[in-house]
Amino acid sequence: MEYRVAQLEALGRFLDDKKQEILEATELDMGKPSFEAFFSEILLCKNELNITLNNLSHWMKDEHVDKNLVMQLDSAFIRKDPYGVVLIIAPWNYPIHLFLVPLIGAIAAGNCAIIKPSEISKNTERLIAETLSCYLDNDCFAIVTGGVPETTRLLENKFDYIFFTGSPPVGRIVMTAAAKHLTPVTLELGGKNPCYVSDTCDVTNVARRVVWGRFFNAGQTCIAPDYLLCTIEMQEKLMPALREAITEFFGPNPRESPDFGRIVNDKQFQRLRALLCSGRVAIGGQTDEAERYIAPTVLADVLPSDPAMQEEIFGPILPIVVIANMDEAIDFINARPRPLALYAFSCDSKIVNQVLEQTSSGGFCGNDTLMHLTLTSLPFGGVGRSKIPSPGHWEIGLIHDLSYGEEWNSGLGKYHGKFTFDTFSHHRGCLHRNMGLETLNTPRYPPYTQQKLGL
Ligand code: NAD
Repeated sequence: MEYRVAQLEALGRFLDDKKQEILEATELDMGKPSFEAFFSEILLCKNELNITLNNLSHWMKDEHVDKNLVMQLDSAFIRKDPYGVVLIIAPWNYPIHLFLVPLIGAIAAGNCAIIKPSEISKNTERLIAETLSCYLDNDCFAIVTGGVPETTRLLENKFDYIFFTGSPPVGRIVMTAAAKHLTPVTLELGGKNPCYVSDTCDVTNVARRVVWGRFFNAGQTCIAPDYLLCTIEMQEKLMPALREAITEFFGPNPRESPDFGRIVNDKQFQRLRALLCSGRVAIGGQTDEAERYIAPTVLADVLPSDPAMQEEIFGPILPIVVIANMDEAIDFINARPRPLALYAFSCDSKIVNQVLEQTSSGGFCGNDTLMHLTLTSLPFGGVGRSKIPSPGHWEIGLIHDLSYGEEWNSGLGKYHGKFTFDTFSHHRGCLHRNMGLETLNTPRYPPYTQQKLGL
């Protein structure tokens, strides 16, 4: 316990001492605005740390469980054992948060860890490689840098647990490597997160909450609302409100705003620019290749067959797909793979509840975006790959179309708060019997007489 606490406190010192460097590195990597870096990379990690430190002794305790009549003098409990050596592979979009939060749980649960930050957020990777080892016990915690060849070699090793955050195709590579050694995995993957906006809502509030969630970190967020589903009337009402929220947040020219980020690299920039031909550009649409700038953009009247609806957007582009009513929105969501996050806006809580009831997703947030991630009391993670059967047909839930949407998997496993501790702990079922009262055991020993069968 003392050792774990010392390592966790050292992570806290890392965040305090390196705060300025973290803000600078993420700014260099993707123009991450200082407040967004402070909130997502530092504040949320410190919150996880505090909750873990405050609860660790309680989480580590054996959990005593119910017993049957013959075991009343025995002790039955769940022991939280560490797995051993765990591998944590992180992506580039929240390059501190997405290795640090799993690492907090790995340390809390008593594991050693190898950390593999993303090579794409290269300034943050360098900062982690050069400084983190000064804080942690280097006999138990190591950082491995590099890209595909280095990670491929790393994955050839036999780990006791692998925690991967990244894209679904690489998630499959990681799971295949893990399968070779039957290593358990958590896969935190991507998604195309629907956001349903009902006809009964306060458009100003919806617009501000959607614009914040979509354009935070220039849209490079795994749980960002990926597209809006609403009626044609709501699209009309929403458009001026979205324009107003964008101007309120980023000024008349978002390119000059210190509060709007940039795309991480040229490859992502080119990919995103190609999506702008979907539907019609209603707001934004300006790009600057030299700066890797894409304006906060809203695309209206987007068709399900348009390029923006074929992949996770992961950038500052918000398509609106027009549907006739809520039932059609629910059918639209259920016809696609289960997303990492799902959003529904309505002043009528029955409508929000109906969307929740009739769909499936990794996480759900009614009347806001992203905020469910900030609650450490909620599990965070995906819900596997399959689409769900149509509403009212749960009884045939196993008959999924197994070939659909291979690239949009939301992942498996969950973390945050105690869920992270549990993820990195082997829950060992233990029964410690009393040596006496042997007569109580006689009925289960041979010879198995007819009497013992109750015949
Ligand atoms: P990525 O899958 O390309 O890379 C993630 C990590 O895997 C990096 O450390 C990278 O070096 C490594 N990697 C890349 N290719 C590899 C290969 N062929 N073999 C072995 N390792 C390899 O993902 P990314 O581009 O860094 O991140 C974006 C993706 O991550 C998006 O799909 C996004 O939705 C997802 N994501 C998910 C969450 C979540 O919590 N569910 C959070 C952030 C990002």
